[in-house]
Amino acid sequence: MIRCVSCGAEYDDDEVIYTCEKCGSVLELVSDIDVSKDIFEGRKDTLWKFKECIPVDESKIVSLNEGGTPFCKCDKLGEELGVNLYVKVEGSNPTGSFKDRGMTVGMTKAMELGVSTVGCASTGNTSASLAAYAARAGLRCIVFLPSGKVALGKLAQAMFHGAEVMSINGNFDEALEAMTALALEKHLYLLNSINPYRLEGQKTIGYEILRDLNWEAPDRIILPVGNAGNISAIWKGVSEFYNAGFVKDLPMMTGIQAEGACPVTNAFRKGDKRVVPVENPETIATAIRIGAPVSDIKALNAIYDSNGYSETVSDEEILDAQKLLARTEGIGVEPASAASIAGLKKLVDQGVIDKGETITCVVTGHLLKDPNTAIDACTKPTEVDADIDTLRKLLME
Ligand SMILES: *Cc1c(COP(=O)(O)O)cnc(C)c1O
Ligand SMILES: [Zn+2]
Repeated sequence: MIRCVSCGAEYDDDEVIYTCEKCGSVLELVSDIDVSKDIFEGRKDTLWKFKECIPVDESKIVSLNEGGTPFCKCDKLGEELGVNLYVKVEGSNPTGSFKDRGMTVGMTKAMELGVSTVGCASTGNTSASLAAYAARAGLRCIVFLPSGKVALGKLAQAMFHGAEVMSINGNFDEALEAMTALALEKHLYLLNSINPYRLEGQKTIGYEILRDLNWEAPDRIILPVGNAGNISAIWKGVSEFYNAGFVKDLPMMTGIQAEGACPVTNAFRKGDKRVVPVENPETIATAIRIGAPVSDIKALNAIYDSNGYSETVSDEEILDAQKLLARTEGIGVEPASAASIAGLKKLVDQGVIDKGETITCVVTGHLLKDPNTAIDACTKPTEVDADIDTLRKLLME
């Protein structure tokens, strides 16, 4: 069953519907978990190990073996910050971001519904993922990207997998508005995170974190927030497993935004349940360069209900954290992902996070998604001849 998160109106699973017809709010899938957690054990470690908890037709699955991502204990960085730190590395998904979790489930639903065309607006990763899964499913794929604001790796993926790519003169929010209008006219099936099936895939990040911690909840989950689907999805996941009795506690959901694109943090500071859109969002972390997050209600509920928090970080803090994670722990992430680490550092400094807390930072996308930013952050390689004497000298300097 699909249910409106605001007025509770109910809709059939097979209705192609993105927002509530009665009140215009966002929708979610409602399902009960009536299995034991033991059945997940011994299965291949993709997100489909949780198939009983994902409300789609198993015979229609479109998968690239997403999920089952690394869960790295980060002792060096953790010690530096005085917390017990784990990093969930979502860049290890097939196309290099957590969007693949949402897309495998969304594309499976598309096959169930028998659609022929899928589409999305994207800051980059959604389009990269959708293009790959549409290719695998054999569907036509249309993506709208904000002109000049998509990281190179993501653009390469969307184009290379054969999506019809439109570069929109406008920002992400405007591209999404246009794409949504076309979806409502039934030209295509919309696979942005307003589609509640996307979040059914992404909730498995929450499932896996609990499983990775041997069926205990961390004190806190920290992640970057853009369109605010992922924080909503992870909260849904951990809440479902909590309600099923698989764990005894729930984590505090902690959403980090960029200073130039922080409608959720602004709302949190005022105690509001909705955001006031940020008109011209700006940040180097293009994946979270979003001013009007569609899942704001769900995300703010997640933060309030979990006794969580929201904070902003500057672009400089993001880039510092990106480098810190890469150089102390060997984990390469794109700028948006590093917002979680930057946020952790800031909240420890502010005393919001207690020393000794068990923290899971979700790092959402791979370093190679945005090679330009990575290269700009480094000193150039030394140009030198293949002459042993010169090289030896250089090494001994
Ligand atoms: C999509 C994305 C985000 C933001 O997730 P939302 O669900 O839009 O809040 C953060 N980081 C990366 C790398 C992303 O691709
Ligand atoms: Zn409603």
